Amino acid sequence: MAVSDRTWHEVFDRDNGCCRYCGEDLLLSISRYRSAEVDHLLPVEHSDRDAVEHLVLSCGPCNKSLNSVRARRLTTFDSRKSFLQSSVHQVGYLRKYQEHLEKRIARNLGEG
Ligand SMILES: [Zn+2]
Repeated sequence: MAVSDRTWHEVFDRDNGCCRYCGEDLLLSISRYRSAEVDHLLPVEHSDRDAVEHLVLSCGPCNKSLNSVRARRLTTFDSRKSFLQSSVHQVGYLRKYQEHLEKRIARNLGEG
């Protein structure tokens, strides 16, 4: 399922090292760079799905969300991007992020 190293780097450079779905800069840290993945727009049965024009640079979390059954039917960049932006999943993450952030702030204030 993985593309060749050459293709991977070609996609990375074309997309300027940023996740095309959420805009995350994957060169900001080594852990972000390591999370970089190449997303296939076309399903497995397409013979030319590994062609660079059918590949998109993606951060790990965006690519993981696109592995859902519903997203697998979406074969264009725009439809996949709007799936990610509208997914319930995304809203859930934002809420949990906020909860963790509030806990940390409360803990830091308690220690100060
Ligand atoms: Zn992303």
